[in-house]
Amino acid sequence: MLNIILCGAPGSGKGTQSDIIVEKYGLQHLSTGDALRQEIKSGSELGKEIDELIAGGNLVPDHKMIHLIERYIDNLPADCKGVIFDGFPRTVAQAEAFELLMERRHMKAVLLDLFVEEDEVIKRLLNRGKTSGRADDNYETIKKRLQVYQSETKPVCTYYLHRHNYFAINGNYSMEDTFSQIDTILKLIQ
Ligand code: AMP
Repeated sequence: MLNIILCGAPGSGKGTQSDIIVEKYGLQHLSTGDALRQEIKSGSELGKEIDELIAGGNLVPDHKMIHLIERYIDNLPADCKGVIFDGFPRTVAQAEAFELLMERRHMKAVLLDLFVEEDEVIKRLLNRGKTSGRADDNYETIKKRLQVYQSETKPVCTYYLHRHNYFAINGNYSMEDTFSQIDTILKLIQ
């Protein structure tokens, strides 16, 4: 199985790159952000609990995320070729729990670190905010999300770097250029 953690700041292009990878490699795609927004829309108990957190640019507590991921992994189809984890793990505690639960299932994942300059991600997110309808695509919340990314999620990249399961991608240029770097890596490791 080809399991990929797509890590990168909000607006770095994780969703766009995931779509291209799914198309070419036939992997499953889990965007935890999309899954959580779906929970909010459905009006579920979880949705009600997390609505304000997400709107304020804060992270959903680790134990809720780990539970969601465990349930997702245990319901993968038998013929699954692999998964793109888009937006998870977002803290070192999530990464540690994830590695444990993957190990127990004899599964492995590599992390792709999609780096984009801050000015560029702010520009992309403000632009997306014009049509996305997302409560967190406004300047103030974008700044907060970037701050949370630096303090909570960047250390996840270091965690995978130390485990020798890390690849850096320069996502500053075009969608095609970014995918070509990802494609080279995936061909090597698949
Ligand atoms: P995204 O669509 O990936 O930008 O995620 C939107 C929001 O969902 C984030 O700002 C967090 O509030 C929440 N979220 C998504 N994934 C996670 C995660 N792995 N851990 C905690 N919160 C998450």
